[in-house]
Amino acid sequence: MSVADYDVVIIGGGIHGVGVAQAAAAAGYSVLLIERAALASGTSSRSSKLIHGGLRYLESARFGLVRESLREREILLRIAPGLVHRVPFHIPVYDNSRRPAWMIRAGLGLYALLGGLSRHARFDTLPRARWDGLDGLDTRGLRAVFRYEDAQTDDTLLTQAVMRSAQKFGAELRCPANFLSARRRDDDYVVHILEGKDEHICRAKALVNAAGPWAGTVLERITPRPAVLPMDLVQGAHIMVGNETRHGIYYLEAPQDGRAVFVMPWQQHTLVGTTETRFDGDLSAVNARPEEVTYLQETLWHYFPGHRGTLLGSFAGLRVLPHGSGAAFHRSRETILHPDNPDRVRLVTVYGGKLTGYRATAVKVMRLLKKSLPARAPRADTSEISLSP
Ligand SMILES: Cc1cc2nc3c(=O)[nH]c(=O)nc-3n(C[C@H](O)[C@H](O)[C@H](O)COP(=O)(O)OP(=O)(O)OC[C@H]3O[C@@H](n4cnc5c(N)ncnc54)[C@H](O)[C@@H]3O)c2cc1C
Repeated sequence: MSVADYDVVIIGGGIHGVGVAQAAAAAGYSVLLIERAALASGTSSRSSKLIHGGLRYLESARFGLVRESLREREILLRIAPGLVHRVPFHIPVYDNSRRPAWMIRAGLGLYALLGGLSRHARFDTLPRARWDGLDGLDTRGLRAVFRYEDAQTDDTLLTQAVMRSAQKFGAELRCPANFLSARRRDDDYVVHILEGKDEHICRAKALVNAAGPWAGTVLERITPRPAVLPMDLVQGAHIMVGNETRHGIYYLEAPQDGRAVFVMPWQQHTLVGTTETRFDGDLSAVNARPEEVTYLQETLWHYFPGHRGTLLGSFAGLRVLPHGSGAAFHRSRETILHPDNPDRVRLVTVYGGKLTGYRATAVKVMRLLKKSLPARAPRADTSEISLSP
């Protein structure tokens, strides 16, 4: 059994945990990150892999979220060019589409405005003569095809790259290692970790609970027991299909219910997602359900009648959303940072959020913890640190 001291101990090696590890280490603090399985083994490898503002969040008036995400997208394109790249997005509008062309045009105009009206923020419509070049998109009843730009990444590689960067600034990683418990004392937490058969103890001036869907389980292991925010878990599934879509990403309305579904090029194949299914099962067994696979296949075939590629696989991840009774689509996608004690924060729990905004979230977590941490000399600003695969 060994005992070590850290300024910040982080539980969870998803994008939020590694983001906080990087921000804390770059700010000069001593950092330990504990990951139970493998980096990005939770939600952070099961996303749609988009680095985007989230056009659809304009429908629920989340302007702040969209503006911040667009800003973060530009930062990531600059600091991580080997991991994040621009991709053209296409929105086809048909005679029977639920969202008419004027609405899409208005939404894209606002999206461009929130994106700073830069060259890459602009959108246009694709001339009819080029519709046949859209990977076999059904042109029957097609009225217009809008085109704009967002970005795509490899979520696992991005998470690993951010952790490597944190380690360059001195952060330590224990993986696989399970967070067992933490007990709060006057000035620190005593943390118990299980690594293989060995139990380690460390002291931490501050704790960050970045365990994603397991955040509640982690809080149960902390004494005195911190308050828990009521959250719902909503599953999102993707399918991977043979045959590549070569001309970018298609942003579609599922024919069954009008929800947004993306058809995306991914590793020489096509990724289709996602669904929104309330989840209350076993967190260690999150898989696409047969009805979700059918829903996504039907959407693909509806828009790409000739796209009969083999089903290569499927995966699912869990969104952590504020508890509510309404449709998941309309619930906040903002990251919720929950401090234990607003006057002197020693524990922050990260609920929900976006891959895209991980860096901004990490900055906010460190701002909350700053008063409880000793003065250290900052080493770098994460918006200037290059990330490579
Ligand atoms: C279907 C879907 C699609 C999405 N698409 C996008 C998208 O295209 N773009 C975007 O910006 N965002 C997207 N998101 C959101 C984004 O993926 C998540 O917000 C993000 O990945 C959450 O990361 P996290 O670090 O909070 O959690 P996770 O990635 O789940 O990480 C939590 C980690 O904690 C570890 N852990 C748990 N308990 C313990 C313990 N006791 N000890 C040690 N470690 C522990 C787990 O093993 C896990 O690795 C999507 C989300 C979903 C569900």
